[in-house]
Amino acid sequence: MAAGSLREALEAGGLFARKSLGQHFLLDLNLTARIARTAGIQPGDTVLEVGPGPGGLTAALLDSPAERIIAVEKDARFVAHLTGFFADAVASGRLQVVEADALAIDEPGLWADSPPAAPVRLVSNLPYNVGTPLFVKWLKAGAWRGTMALMFQEEVCQRIAARPGSDAYGRLAVLTAARATARIAMGVPRLAFVPPPKVESAVVVVEDRPDPFDDLAGLEHVTALAFGQRRKMLRASLKALPDHTDLLAAAGIAPEARPETVAPEAFFALVRAWRQHGGAPAAR
Ligand code: SAM
Repeated sequence: MAAGSLREALEAGGLFARKSLGQHFLLDLNLTARIARTAGIQPGDTVLEVGPGPGGLTAALLDSPAERIIAVEKDARFVAHLTGFFADAVASGRLQVVEADALAIDEPGLWADSPPAAPVRLVSNLPYNVGTPLFVKWLKAGAWRGTMALMFQEEVCQRIAARPGSDAYGRLAVLTAARATARIAMGVPRLAFVPPPKVESAVVVVEDRPDPFDDLAGLEHVTALAFGQRRKMLRASLKALPDHTDLLAAAGIAPEARPETVAPEAFFALVRAWRQHGGAPAAR
């Protein structure tokens, strides 16, 4: 497919970008091919793309070895456009275009008719307004979810992949580290988009770790307290946890430490200690 034909289809259909849906489009097919490659798609894979919009990234996914691509789009105009533009792939069943709000869907229901043999890869250029909640939803997802290659504002990618001691390190990095390892695979300049957003973007690749820390509810609770008062020492910010100085000692964390210096593994140990002391909310 030529990039020109994608632009022409958008113009012919009067498909302008809607700010309310975070619409910034990638029409450079060399770029979308590079993004798709970061996902390491293997023959037989099922890929879920959220927010396909005009279909530049969808075209790259169709060029990949993926067996099946499911594209979930909230904007009915693009559902109609994609169904027509990729009519052959839709007719063959390789591409399924679903009109839905990705925040509200139960993903496994999308492939209930023929469950994939391997975990589903997520490859998306996410809308800025819902990117982080979608990412946290997928981080918590069950065994259906495989490797994620996701485009966000660069600043969000940095917060996902951050290491202790950096300004970007916070709750999102700790939650990510519980389930996965994350790396920024490529930057994408703002001028690559139509229309250009205000900030630069990047693609982060998130791969599950073999030894996950599964008490994400506990981790969300403890890190909300710890990072909610980022400049305070943990012995002050964690006061709401009963016996908090004992918990810090059990986790091997200095009471004077500030949260941005504490490694994810030490937060996991803190949550374990808190649970052993009867900490709520209940584990999921
Ligand atoms: N993937 C396309 C590209 O790279 O050109 C479009 C990316 S654009 C940043 C985000 C897309 O997500 C838009 O098509 C928008 O309509 C869609 N979108 C926004 N909110 C959504 C939601 N809650 N569920 C599904 N799609 C959504």
